[in-house]
Amino acid sequence: MAITMEEGVFELCKNAMEKDKGFLRANPGVPAGEMNEEIFSRYRLYRLQETVRYAYEKSRFYRRKMEEGGIRPEDIKSLEDLKRLPLTEPSDLAAKSYQFLCISQGAVEKPVTYVSSGTVGPSKHLFFSPADVEAVIEFIRVGMKVISEPGEVLQILMPSGSVRGQAELVTEAAARMGVRAITTGIFCSSEEQIEATRNHKCTVWFGSTHMIYRITKEMERKYDLRSLGVRTMFLTIGYLSDTMRSYIENAWNCRVINHYGLTEAGFGMAIECAEEPVYHYNEFGIIAEVINKETGEPAADGEEGELVFTTLGREAMPLIRYRSHDIARMWRAPAACGCCLGSISPVKRRREACVTLANGSEIYPSLFDDTVYAFPQIVDYDVFHKKEEDKERVRFAVEPVEGLTAEETLRLKEELSKPLSVQPAFAQGADLEIVVLEAGALRQGAVFKKLIRPISEAKE
Ligand SMILES: [Zn+2]
Repeated sequence: MAITMEEGVFELCKNAMEKDKGFLRANPGVPAGEMNEEIFSRYRLYRLQETVRYAYEKSRFYRRKMEEGGIRPEDIKSLEDLKRLPLTEPSDLAAKSYQFLCISQGAVEKPVTYVSSGTVGPSKHLFFSPADVEAVIEFIRVGMKVISEPGEVLQILMPSGSVRGQAELVTEAAARMGVRAITTGIFCSSEEQIEATRNHKCTVWFGSTHMIYRITKEMERKYDLRSLGVRTMFLTIGYLSDTMRSYIENAWNCRVINHYGLTEAGFGMAIECAEEPVYHYNEFGIIAEVINKETGEPAADGEEGELVFTTLGREAMPLIRYRSHDIARMWRAPAACGCCLGSISPVKRRREACVTLANGSEIYPSLFDDTVYAFPQIVDYDVFHKKEEDKERVRFAVEPVEGLTAEETLRLKEELSKPLSVQPAFAQGADLEIVVLEAGALRQGAVFKKLIRPISEAKE
């Protein structure tokens, strides 16, 4: 039997607590080997206090930030006090990465450099110590226990090859719980992906939403996907629209579980609940909050706002109240599945994929997914944007399934333009352009992450 996210998070907490002499000394009343909501939040507070003190002592950035804010580590007396700490901007992390670093560069096991913005933007350097990497693997391990069972075979459709990259970490985590993993990566054809599933008898797929959607579209007529034995699609990166979800579920006769993560927060973070379309997150390793994105004030329970994360126990580069710029809601009411963890709503708008038009409206791919993927003739699409002197153009480059006639192509264009043109961005003056590409046009070098890119990058 797979475990719940609460059981997974409690397991991590129990394992860490048993080794944490400082905590046990300070809390002699905690019974050994036990874990419940109360002990969990007590240890969580202790980890927060330790994290804040550690960052204050070791990170130049946080020392200065806290001094400027007139707050000291000992002021953190409850989880609520977290709100008194200043927010960390992604731009700070990009501009001053090394000031965040709490250990020497030689002690870093996994440096990650990545560019997070859709169009332009400075790259950020993230550092993980061996202990940080171990914590990431351990979280993935319990995450794997939530979505799969020992003896299953996992197919990883994620970039491979990089040392200590995501595919490698997932493979190691899966092995620890008795799941064999094979990595097919993102560059082989849909056909090859299916062949790998058949050869290795894979029962769980892990990959990006748009890629798995494409494979399903391309292969559903060639194979009986329902007979392949894939029980679980674990999807990551990209918004999952209702249409896409039920399409994938039906095509494969499987369950679809979505994942939400942020590289800064250590890759893995939140996994969809088995009972309802909300996420439970790694409350052992992270404290999430929602704030009003204009004022920075805490949002009420269930109110929409920006997700902010504090990492607990991170050694190389702790982040305190790090602004994700991702928009969601969060609440603590009892979850449908009965677990005590908080719930996060699906994250629809992600900062990294967002472009603000001159008319003030924000556009991002997931804004259009529901509309575009409602057309079964569409396999994938790209969005491009161009600012001209007094006009703005947004181009949808749509890839259809194979075998559309010229007439069907024309009709697709017309029909797609109806729901798109009433979207605020276009109703307020941006020009909408729809181009129907050849079948397979976006297959090669298909964007791993869906972003809105400058029109100059479009294949004319
Ligand atoms: Zn739940």
